[in-house]
Amino acid sequence: MDSNMLNKQKYIALVAHDNRKRDLIDWAKSNYDVLCKHFLCGTGTTATMITEQTGLPVKGYKSGPLGGDQQIGARITEGKVDFMIFFWDPLSSQPHDPDVKALLRIAVLYDIPVAMNRSSADFMLNSPLMEQEYQRNVIDYYNKIPRDIR
Ligand code: PGA
Repeated sequence: MDSNMLNKQKYIALVAHDNRKRDLIDWAKSNYDVLCKHFLCGTGTTATMITEQTGLPVKGYKSGPLGGDQQIGARITEGKVDFMIFFWDPLSSQPHDPDVKALLRIAVLYDIPVAMNRSSADFMLNSPLMEQEYQRNVIDYYNKIPRDIR
């Protein structure tokens, strides 16, 4: 199986900082019919709150400040998370800001779709590509190493 292929049924990570959780939960409620067709996971508190308030099953990792962002980043590198909705807080700094930056970096590197606010999430979820397979473009790092030092 090609781990760079996004299948029709996607592995979607849901993450929201505290001031953005209400927004993400409301968005998840209004998109229940689409989200329930996919596999959902998220950082600990976000996952629990979405499941409690929408009924959607969301596999929870650790809470963000306790390493949950890093766990999701690791799943992206393994091809086990291939789509992310991450409502981060633009108005406050977080104790785990380095982890947030690392997660966003990994998401870009592995060319997975990422929405960071509600309008982007709406556009992404309503894209015709949601119903299709999609080949991600991941850098072949080995081929970037100069031949004379391989
Ligand atoms: P939480 O983590 O869902 O456990 O609150 C989110 C985050 O702060 O990254």
